[in-house]
Amino acid sequence: MAPVILKIQLPQPQPYTPLTPFYVPLPPPPPPAAAPPTPPSSTSSTPPPAAAPASLVVQLPVSQQGGLQIQQILSQPPQSGTPQHGTPPPAVSQPDTPQSDTANSSRKRAASESNTSQPELKKTKLPTPDLEDQQSASADVDFPEDPQGKPNSFGEPEVWAEQRQQLCETLHHYRAHEAGVYQNNRIAYGLYIDAGVSPKDFFDNDLIITTLGGGKAKNENGDVQRVRDHAIEGRNDTAFRNSLEKLQTILVIVGKKNTNCPVKLNHNFNVLGHFHITAMWYDKSDTCCWMVKLQRVDTITQPWYSVEGSTHTSLPLSVAPNQVCGSCNESTERIYQEEWICMTPGCTSYFKRDGVTIDARNYHYSQAFLNARSQFMGEVPVAVAPYLPDFTAGTPVTDAVLNNFKQGFVCSVCGCCGRQKHWKHWACENERCGATFPMRQQAMTIDEAKAEPEGRLKRQKDFAKPVISVLQYMEGAYEVTKYSFPDEKGDFIGFVAVYKSNKQINLQKNGPDDLFSEFSTMEEGEFHLERKAARASGSIVEKLTQQFSRNYGATYKFIVRTESQSFSTAPEAILRVLKRCTWASEQAVNQHGGLYEVPNELLALGYTQSGEMGWHDDGEKTVGQTVASLSLGGRSTMHFRPKARTTLFGPPKAKGVKSPVLQFTLEHGDMMVMHGCEIQKLYEHCVYSYGKRRYALTCRTMIFDKMVTEEEKQHAMEAGTIPDHAEEFNYDGDAELPLQRTLKPVQKAKPARKTAKAVKA
Ligand SMILES: [Zn+2]
Ligand SMILES: [Zn+2]
Ligand SMILES: [Zn+2]
Repeated sequence: MAPVILKIQLPQPQPYTPLTPFYVPLPPPPPPAAAPPTPPSSTSSTPPPAAAPASLVVQLPVSQQGGLQIQQILSQPPQSGTPQHGTPPPAVSQPDTPQSDTANSSRKRAASESNTSQPELKKTKLPTPDLEDQQSASADVDFPEDPQGKPNSFGEPEVWAEQRQQLCETLHHYRAHEAGVYQNNRIAYGLYIDAGVSPKDFFDNDLIITTLGGGKAKNENGDVQRVRDHAIEGRNDTAFRNSLEKLQTILVIVGKKNTNCPVKLNHNFNVLGHFHITAMWYDKSDTCCWMVKLQRVDTITQPWYSVEGSTHTSLPLSVAPNQVCGSCNESTERIYQEEWICMTPGCTSYFKRDGVTIDARNYHYSQAFLNARSQFMGEVPVAVAPYLPDFTAGTPVTDAVLNNFKQGFVCSVCGCCGRQKHWKHWACENERCGATFPMRQQAMTIDEAKAEPEGRLKRQKDFAKPVISVLQYMEGAYEVTKYSFPDEKGDFIGFVAVYKSNKQINLQKNGPDDLFSEFSTMEEGEFHLERKAARASGSIVEKLTQQFSRNYGATYKFIVRTESQSFSTAPEAILRVLKRCTWASEQAVNQHGGLYEVPNELLALGYTQSGEMGWHDDGEKTVGQTVASLSLGGRSTMHFRPKARTTLFGPPKAKGVKSPVLQFTLEHGDMMVMHGCEIQKLYEHCVYSYGKRRYALTCRTMIFDKMVTEEEKQHAMEAGTIPDHAEEFNYDGDAELPLQRTLKPVQKAKPARKTAKAVKA
């Protein structure tokens, strides 16, 4: 095996072909001049028009004549004055519109304001991630410090972020939530370099030489060190080799802790821009490791990360001298000034001179190698990140737009990568900027909400294992399927009842169809769903939940008090849902003669795409025995399995999991009631959501006496009090509707060997 380790694209005259835009084309700028950014105090209901984003797209120079064009550009007089964000390089002519001036200056202002003081981040110690296959990922663990003594940069990064999730949700070329290299399908797209610089790493205006991750571990002092050789064909180098062959650009992001970066960095994640791979070699120092040489695609314009006051020189195209190895016949570049070395892994002359191993630990790169420049022949993405279209200019929110911005966006005012935190608007996450962008959500029919993308996983058939006893009956206009759960001795410990809705029920006034359209059209002031921090709130590794949520009624554990809205101010639709769930849980609990508790808390969840809520139980000290929920829009499946440590259906498992015993589907209008504390102790469940829009509204009962503080108790009681006007929303299960039987009997593999003692009313 002799992998090609060095490859140089020689400049060749090429006919000009327009580049295909990688991202959604931007809309034309709106006729009136753009307004200044919204102050953070503005309410979302009356957002001012956003600054025109069109002027901020980075147009990379397209050379029509290869090297010739570069010479022509170089002969132009250098630009004077301060650098402007988003100003296209001289190679691309673009009329200077008043809109772009406004956008540029406001963008610059916001960016510089953001640099004076950073939002205070909470220091969080997290378990050290697996160091294998990582590129400086350990840097995420500690709060980065501002490196001292570095000069200021010439400009500001076009795109930046403070938290990794902001970056990963926004950039299409960097989705690595843990690792330094982002690869997909064995092709590398992005690289994040931070702390952990190796002696042979290099960083200047146009060139980055970096050691690929992997083979590192912590020594006794806690420092991360490379301890093992890289595999000759490892994960990262394979991805880079594939990118090199496929002419794929690499988006490079630099972190604050990178000691090689010549300038002071103001953000935790700073996007340098698109690079292309010009060399890869298997170096040998104390250990063998893969090195990659990356060249900036646009070598003409001065990069923002060059030193303030310096001038940028674009070097002409050239190659470093090559030499053919007498042993392996591979022609490779001379990398080191000291001597040419064969770096072909597996060659008998690998790092050897006349059979003697070369110690190249203190060797220096040759000037010819560092000065070599090649023309990138692949397709260059139009921009480093998708800028949010200006919806105030009337851009329709198409599926393509929603898909592009379903999670993150780049603020067109300050360049901060932001996550879509709110259900109905985008808000810049940079506190110094605070720009908001309205999202004109299309009205969606229930059929559209249910629609699933082509090629989604095959629908798994619902099932109940024989250990789960099943009872089917009518309640109001609903067909109810009640699944009873046994404990280890086979005694009944609780049930899950599914209330199957039908067209007639859904069509009733204020029924599921009406509720769905009400939740879809309510203004954010009335019904504000947002993504909340799921872990490490406020830190560099903060992660938001995938689903959007809002709490109503009695305060639920973990929820900041102000985030729960009292029922007395809740929208009518919320109270109607509460009453429907109250009816279902009361019927279900009475049906087997259990203790019924009136729900006093409601959690509204919204999903805009398929999502998963992993295995968990709903057992909380302050929560009652019953959980009831209503599903609207897209379908979901709910899965139950015994916890691994239980003796249910087999010995406890120290490792691994037990197989699921029940799966059912909840469709638009269906309700679900889960009852019995013991179920939460012995079983766990998970939920998969499907479709383009789904609301899941779950009601619970908070037990005030189990709350720790009196203050907490008082607040929960107040917020959880159901207002008198809710009486008119009392629900009777649409009992007046004619009976409709559509359910097929639940699939059971074999007759139950051991039937749980279900208590029937
Ligand atoms: Zn060789
Ligand atoms: Zn902003
Ligand atoms: Zn749950």
